[in-house]
Amino acid sequence: MARNKKKIVILGGGFAGVECARQLESHFGNNSEIELVMISEDNFLLFTPMLPQVASGMIETRHIVMPIRAICKKTKFYEGRIKNIDPFGKLVTLWGTSEKRGFSIHYDYLVVALGSETNFFGMADVEKNAYTMKTLNDAVMLRNRVIDVLEQAENETDPILRNSFLTFVVVGGGFAGIETAGELMDFLLDARKHYPTIRKGNIRVIVLEALPMILPGFNEKLAEFSKQKMIERGIDIRLRTAVTSFDGTEVTIKSLDENTKDPMNESKIDVIRTKTLIWTAGVTPVNTIKRSMFKTDKGKVIVNDFLEVPEFPGVFAVGDCALFMDSKTNRPFAPTAQLAEAQAKIAAHNLHALIKNLEKKKFEYRSRGQMAIIGKRTGIATFLGMNISGFLAWLIWRNVYLSKITLPDKKIRVFLDWAIDLLFDRDISRLKLMKRETEKEYKVLDEVDDVW
Ligand SMILES: Cc1cc2nc3c(=O)[nH]c(=O)nc-3n(C[C@H](O)[C@H](O)[C@H](O)COP(=O)(O)OP(=O)(O)OC[C@H]3O[C@@H](n4cnc5c(N)ncnc54)[C@H](O)[C@@H]3O)c2cc1C
Repeated sequence: MARNKKKIVILGGGFAGVECARQLESHFGNNSEIELVMISEDNFLLFTPMLPQVASGMIETRHIVMPIRAICKKTKFYEGRIKNIDPFGKLVTLWGTSEKRGFSIHYDYLVVALGSETNFFGMADVEKNAYTMKTLNDAVMLRNRVIDVLEQAENETDPILRNSFLTFVVVGGGFAGIETAGELMDFLLDARKHYPTIRKGNIRVIVLEALPMILPGFNEKLAEFSKQKMIERGIDIRLRTAVTSFDGTEVTIKSLDENTKDPMNESKIDVIRTKTLIWTAGVTPVNTIKRSMFKTDKGKVIVNDFLEVPEFPGVFAVGDCALFMDSKTNRPFAPTAQLAEAQAKIAAHNLHALIKNLEKKKFEYRSRGQMAIIGKRTGIATFLGMNISGFLAWLIWRNVYLSKITLPDKKIRVFLDWAIDLLFDRDISRLKLMKRETEKEYKVLDEVDDVW
């Protein structure tokens, strides 16, 4: 490798990392002086808006992931888990595994786009026993779990145990929670046809949300519409309700009093018996960021108006792991794929400007609208300045998100999955898989890390 070649390293192959790589490829793809590198744990981009549909078996697992090597062809890709970022030495170190050596990669410019992970707010029992909805593995695990409990419930004679098998608790009334609850209900009602003893009335899907409304950030009327539609479908939505523990059998909840100034003080405790709790109540930046040398606030990297880390020129942070305040609300922007991609575009522009001595751009964000689907071919959308709900919003959701899938074969596969779902019942074959693994600290086989 030529010594004077400058290396831009992108950490993370999510929405922000991939968009940044694609923009940088368009600037530097044919420039022999610049090398583009991406490091990510998975070798694919996960299309999260369709994750609940994988959990409900509507879309096949591999159809919502795009291999990085197929979408960022001019970027050198390393599959690995990042252990440490050293912004003084300009080194990124990867964990070794039982099979491969850990090593370090030097960079000249860095884009940190490591996203976020599920936040359990320190509740270890919830973390141990809950299902989550963040990764592809989570969606596959949940689908199998749902089928497994239907199998158990079908032949269970103890009514209490049977009820707890057929009770599904979704914690979190945001995007992920509401879409998961809607899809879950669709799946359960469809799958139920194969289980003669399970009636519609036996199935309970409960959404718990600590705030006084669901889908915060959405237009209030649309959020209310979603709530009413979901209640009509039999989904029990409990607002001002916080989870305090879950042991795998019982979830303890605390209803927050709306009249008290400090609602956490005066509250009522209750218990729901369930074998399946799906936790979608929040995200937090990944540990790699939290233990890094970057200045953080609530775990997110603090960046300036150009999305650059102030103490380390040439280092940018974008997406869920970066802290960028909305000047209108004085709060951080909600973590979305749309925001992540918008930031990635500006970071790539500014990197190009930095290298070519051009003028950098400030990041300014205006949302292009929001959409969610809530089950039974119903959606809500703020689209082109209009608030739309019902079947039309669901149709818009499908069109917009299908158009966002970059690989033509995946687009067709998703489209076919949707078409098949119109004609046939969902597949209820359960695949035996392991539960998600907690973070492991692998031993590095080689004591002296290689520097690439
Ligand atoms: C179920 C669900 C539904 C959603 N629906 C929508 C929606 O409809 N619209 C919308 O705008 N947003 C939606 N979101 C939010 C959206 O997915 C995120 O805001 C977006 O993915 C953020 O992009 P990112 O690139 O910052 O992070 P991510 O997409 O999370 O990417 C981070 C990447 O970094 C990698 N990584 C993390 N740690 C390490 C490490 N230590 N070593 C190596 N690699 C690492 C990860 O593997 C991943 O590839 C949804 C999220 C979920 C979970």
